[in-house]
Amino acid sequence: MSGVGDQSLEQACEAFVDWLDRRVVAAGRGDGLSRLEVAPSGTFWLGRLACEDEVRKDVSDDRSERLDPCAIAIRLRPAAAPPWSMTVTVRARAWVKDPKDGPDPDRRWWRTGLVEEVVSVLASGEGGTFGGKQLRDAFAAVGAPGLSAEVRVDVEDWHRQTEVVVQLVNTSPEKKVSDLTDSHLYETQLDVSGLPAVPFELEALPDSFRYDRKVPAYGVNVGVEELAAGVFRTSDSVSVRTYRPDYWSGSAPQPDLSFMRLASDPLPQLQALVDALHEYDHAHWSSKTLDARQAAEGWTLDMRARADESAEQVFAELARLRAGLALLRGRSEILRAFQLMNKAISRSAEGRGYTSWRPFQVGFLLSAIRFLAEPEEEARYVDTVWFATGGGKTETYLGLLLTAAFFDRLTGKTMGVTAWSRFPLRLLSLQQTQRFADALAGAELVRRDEGVKGAPFSLGFLVGRAGTPNRIVPKTEGDEITPDSPGMPDKYRVLLHCPFCRDENLQMRFDRQRWKLEHRCTSGNCPWKGQALPMYVVDQEVFRFLPTVVVGTLDKAASIGLQQAMRGLVGPPQKLCPVEWHGFTYAERSKNPNGCLVPDCQGGKALKPLPMDPKRFGPSLRLQDELHLLRDSLGAVDSHYESLLDHLQFELCGTRAKIVASSATLTGYEHQAKVLYQREGRVFPQPGPRAGESFWTVPTEKPLRRFVAVAPRGVTLEHVSDRTLDALQRCVRQLKDDPASVCAEAGIDRKHVDMLVSLYGTDVVYGSTLYDVEAAGRSLGSNNTVEGINVEQLTGQTEFDDVRAILDRLEKPEEDFAERIHVVAASSMLSHGVDVDRLNTMVMLGLPLTTAEFIQTTARVGRRHPGLVYVLHKIGRERDAQTFRQFTQYVRQGDRFVDAIPITRRSRRVLDLTVAGVVGARTLMIREPASKQRLSTPAKLRQYARDSGMTPAAEAAAVASVLGLDGAEDSLHREQIAEWLQAWFADLEDPATRATFVSELGPRSPMTSLRDVEASAPIHD
Ligand SMILES: [Zn+2]
Ligand SMILES: [Zn+2]
Repeated sequence: MSGVGDQSLEQACEAFVDWLDRRVVAAGRGDGLSRLEVAPSGTFWLGRLACEDEVRKDVSDDRSERLDPCAIAIRLRPAAAPPWSMTVTVRARAWVKDPKDGPDPDRRWWRTGLVEEVVSVLASGEGGTFGGKQLRDAFAAVGAPGLSAEVRVDVEDWHRQTEVVVQLVNTSPEKKVSDLTDSHLYETQLDVSGLPAVPFELEALPDSFRYDRKVPAYGVNVGVEELAAGVFRTSDSVSVRTYRPDYWSGSAPQPDLSFMRLASDPLPQLQALVDALHEYDHAHWSSKTLDARQAAEGWTLDMRARADESAEQVFAELARLRAGLALLRGRSEILRAFQLMNKAISRSAEGRGYTSWRPFQVGFLLSAIRFLAEPEEEARYVDTVWFATGGGKTETYLGLLLTAAFFDRLTGKTMGVTAWSRFPLRLLSLQQTQRFADALAGAELVRRDEGVKGAPFSLGFLVGRAGTPNRIVPKTEGDEITPDSPGMPDKYRVLLHCPFCRDENLQMRFDRQRWKLEHRCTSGNCPWKGQALPMYVVDQEVFRFLPTVVVGTLDKAASIGLQQAMRGLVGPPQKLCPVEWHGFTYAERSKNPNGCLVPDCQGGKALKPLPMDPKRFGPSLRLQDELHLLRDSLGAVDSHYESLLDHLQFELCGTRAKIVASSATLTGYEHQAKVLYQREGRVFPQPGPRAGESFWTVPTEKPLRRFVAVAPRGVTLEHVSDRTLDALQRCVRQLKDDPASVCAEAGIDRKHVDMLVSLYGTDVVYGSTLYDVEAAGRSLGSNNTVEGINVEQLTGQTEFDDVRAILDRLEKPEEDFAERIHVVAASSMLSHGVDVDRLNTMVMLGLPLTTAEFIQTTARVGRRHPGLVYVLHKIGRERDAQTFRQFTQYVRQGDRFVDAIPITRRSRRVLDLTVAGVVGARTLMIREPASKQRLSTPAKLRQYARDSGMTPAAEAAAVASVLGLDGAEDSLHREQIAEWLQAWFADLEDPATRATFVSELGPRSPMTSLRDVEASAPIHD
């Protein structure tokens, strides 16, 4: 092997992935074996062909034919009229079973030699069959008499252009009417050459001008490779490679976008960035350029119109960046906030191997920064960051968020929540949370150094019941947590390390005097010097201290309809408790007689006024991660709660928060933004002039991932998954135990062996349903040929502290390979924020329900090193079969395969669930504070309603307006709301009502989680 000596790790990875894939395919076909103990038809899943008579007899539909096909084929469009002459090469083998007294009684199945026959074909317009006798003779010659096959040419002339399908068909007789021990053919392959053909053209989708629409040939039940012009060969799996992008395509050198440079002297660098974008946009999107492309690429008028629309959006984006730069020049506090943010990010990134932004991250910051200067105007838009190619989303968020936090402090918002960031899953990723904590710690150190006034920057963690406690009580009442509950306080550790010094020896402690659940760092070198870290993980502590940034799950917004102290997330609290460390107070309740949330507070009634203008408590930003997941019923419910949040903040503070979201897909974001937030959608960055390249990203030669589509034949998907994982584990163990021979075979330098064992020693098996994941975990344990495969599960059901322990083991694997995690069986929980560089191989059990999930999930492997993804198609399903046929396009142009996101805010079933929360929140957050009295019981609210003249009709109109259901077409919805409120008022007016609290009035109580709606049920207008 020449050049192995100076091989880089990346080259070694690529060579190893290559070798792994060859070995897995060999395991699927049976390559290289000579004898078998068990029947080959129950073992191999690639390359086999069933016998036509058996398939035809057993089945009547396409579906079963796909499950165990009797033919493979190449579909072509001939360039000329018939007759068509071509050369077809057929390759195949057979497996034959010896009688009991054969030479190897334990392994009676033996594999024949290779049949390789060149068949000359001259087909008329009717098609025809060829090579039957030649192939029958060839099988007899290798020791499998009786097997037969033929080349069959079908002509389909009902298409716009005639198509020919060149098939290899297994024509052997049925087993039961012959002496055959197995009627399958194995290791089949078909080459076609010598037939001049024209490419297929993919149907025109809206943005077709971006794509190369030509496909030279299609496979039937197989992939097709074009070996040379006009020379086609079938492949058992379809392999598609993707390449790592570069983040600069300007003709000038990339400006210095390092954190330190942007902290000290940002304007010249930012100007250079905007200038380069200007140049690029004019070079690629001017009418002149589009004219030339239209002529050269044969665009239709419609394609040109789409290109013109895109160009318009591209120039609007350029204008936004310019406006952002002008603001930095003209507004000193915005410039200072931006500089301090860069300093903070620089501190939090220390020792992590990156010191600089990618250009698109800075581009986004520039494009979005105007909301600081013109909050009202900019709140009209949802800015969506679109990450087609991974990498850097969270950091981009953090940049924006810290800029806003510093800006708040510099302009008199000295406390309270700057941003509420919500993630769509049940369980928030700890890694993601940690990155927020790290960034805020960096910001806090910078804040102190620079003498910026105000409360320390802090982080709140606000998640559903599965995570951390809502509150801690002195004595248990039911299932509430006390300081002495089992697992307290260690069970609620959220941080993986100290955000100030990275030390991992954190201690959890419950401080009874301060009534706080604390993370503490025990390192002597920590700049935080052993105090409680500025991190709040109990809901009530979040309300008491209103941390700068709150991260949480989407569901938690439901509490706004039930929990009056949620007010701190949309507006001002009431007052401040005079007892140090008690924090903000809210409405008085029997258990909190002075409104302080600390049990048995002795602070009395002499509360302190708020030390800041109450109107500034409203958050500046709401962040929504993975917007595309807000769909169906969850999206419908959330749309109502988003409107409620807007309404409350506007009533309490007179402001609206800016909404920033991220999405893995572009399809339909405008509609989604409108439905969810009643705002206009805007996306950054605009896609480039051609697929896969734009000003912000250009592909390189560096491998990113190899996707391998597998259509299992004749055996179950579970069998294929087990055998694939088995082969992967066998390979990596072989590398560890016998490095010399593997390195020689795969072309790898020995010095990389340990690293490769680490990088490819843990496989992910991914299922979209919990059932699939659990089945995969179980069967692998019992079904593998490799000893000692350690399997762990990572799903929404996995306990919080188990997740932390598994992540920890994945990031810092055990010294001894045998003790490591070898397989992670995961559900979609993995696809959000689990970033482990050691995960580089994945087996996917069937295509996920949405393309967005496919993109998101596969992005978990190959983050830093070349990844390998087996996509096992559930080939009986029409959607999987269709994707298998166009797998290359599916991977390369994934974003255009994403279906529009189904979402509506006009579901009446959902309205039935959400009205209670809107009424509840309006009572708790608006009426109660305004009334200066307690409205928590029906009797008190009844009196208030009478005194204030509250009526069902007026409240119904208000609710309809909050939910944006006040248009002419919403009369049915308004009727529904009015009926609901009449029932609610009747209950309120009834002195014998069974309700003890106002939340129990009316037809139903407010939702406790946005997920209370059945997620899978279809939702209609
Ligand atoms: Zn520390
Ligand atoms: Zn108190």
